[in-house]
Amino acid sequence: MSAFAPPVQRLITELSKLPGIGGRTAQRLAFHVLRSSDEEANALAEAIREVKARIGLCEVCFNLADGPRCRICEDERRDAEVICVVEEPSDVISIERTHEFSGRYHVLGGALSPIDGIDPEDLKIAELYARVNSDPERPVREVVIATNPTTTGEATALHIAAGLRERLPEMTVTRLASGLPVGADLEYADELTLGRAFAGRRAV
Ligand SMILES: [Zn+2]
Repeated sequence: MSAFAPPVQRLITELSKLPGIGGRTAQRLAFHVLRSSDEEANALAEAIREVKARIGLCEVCFNLADGPRCRICEDERRDAEVICVVEEPSDVISIERTHEFSGRYHVLGGALSPIDGIDPEDLKIAELYARVNSDPERPVREVVIATNPTTTGEATALHIAAGLRERLPEMTVTRLASGLPVGADLEYADELTLGRAFAGRRAV
């Protein structure tokens, strides 16, 4: 039996389901909530409720959106002829922060992982093919595949590159040169990362 009153235990249990939050941290956060004013604690609960009620997926690119389309798809200044394919909405934020990209995105919703039962049908891959094929008047010029440099991300990139080549042989498909983590020593980078950083090097 738990040492805590059931409502406290319930809060600890829910908090400990969050990524990176172990049992002890969950307990500390729960006690923080208990010490907070009603106003502060309700603001947290309300923020969680609101994000679930108001945020959905963009009907075009599957990025997070608070309407039918996300801000990027609604922005006419963004180049619709270049599409960057990423795994998760958080990747869009990371790429936006670089200010290197002015095209549109396509969020897959994960990466291929047959071991975990994640097959092409589970991701927005068919939607990507339909999207690049949709307007012959304004063809997509380039698809930049920016899935993670992990085993599953690589498998996903290869799968999509092959699928795109088959459907639109004339379109350019590129893969991000994966950079070395800023501030880390070269010796700590694995060979794959380092090799790609070299292959993708650009003049400065
Ligand atoms: Zn969108």
